[in-house]
Amino acid sequence: MAQLIDGKAVSQRIKDEVRAEIERDGLTVGLAVVIVGNDPASRVYVNNKKKACEMCGIKSYEYALPEETTENELRELVRTLNDDPNVNGILVQLPLPKHITEKKIIKTISPKKDVDAFHAENVGRIVIGNYAFLPCTPAGVMELIHSTGTDVAGKECVVIGRSNIVGKPMAMLLLHENATVTICHSHTKDLAAVCRRADILVSAVGKADFVTADMVKEGAVVIDVGMNRNAENKLCGDVKFDEVEPKASFITPVPGGVGPMTIAMLMKNTLMAKRLQSK
Ligand code: NAP
Repeated sequence: MAQLIDGKAVSQRIKDEVRAEIERDGLTVGLAVVIVGNDPASRVYVNNKKKACEMCGIKSYEYALPEETTENELRELVRTLNDDPNVNGILVQLPLPKHITEKKIIKTISPKKDVDAFHAENVGRIVIGNYAFLPCTPAGVMELIHSTGTDVAGKECVVIGRSNIVGKPMAMLLLHENATVTICHSHTKDLAAVCRRADILVSAVGKADFVTADMVKEGAVVIDVGMNRNAENKLCGDVKFDEVEPKASFITPVPGGVGPMTIAMLMKNTLMAKRLQSK
């Protein structure tokens, strides 16, 4: 039987630490949250981020723009926020409507306020190990792994998924902690055999019931980044939990695993941005 990794508890600890630091040092910290259009999932994420800001004593500034906002209008808003001293972090909720090129918007965000760590400058810093911000989801996963007491150094780690926001930076963070890392994707041959090598298996695919028991080594730490809807429209991860859980030593549930960590790390990054800008 695996031990459940309690993402809610770990994320609460991080948010409490952020709040305590802000109160202790009497800081005024602000996060701008920009949402374009009416995507219901994005609306939920934005509301959760605003709630977390309140919890941490961070002031949130919401900019809810209509679907037909042009790329230039959005870039203009980002530039204004770059120059606003009350705003320490800028988060543009993705995905954006199709007529707006996400890359261009991300490039417009000042790297010092890029609390998602998506800007090419921050990505490059992560690769060379000289970073300020870490991308929220992979950084949250590292916190969850640490919470199990697992020493990552020398471990075989397999990451399924190679997206810029999860898979690739996830692999980098594991590498920085001296793991032996394999990244898998849709062209990987004999995925199950590769995954069975993993002492730590991180799945970021986005398909329900994708990771089955035959892909998991006995005693592995299993981290499920996936956020999917099953046939009953219930939130679920990538891992077929009931059959994988008995084989794992530690496993994240969905919901209540990686999800809350992403927001907690965003709060941590926003405080870090404030510190950087005060230097
Ligand atoms: P993404 O950009 O769609 O990437 C999915 C990755 O999975 C791709 O690299 C893809 O490979 C790989 N993949 C797809 N089918 C595969 C297969 N049959 N075998 C092996 N690899 C396969 O997704 P993402 O943005 O990284 O997100 C992944 C999941 O994490 C989603 O469910 C998302 O909702 C969730 N997520 C959760 C959080 C959170 O806070 N909990 C945050 C971000 C994302 P190719 O590159 O070859 O296509």
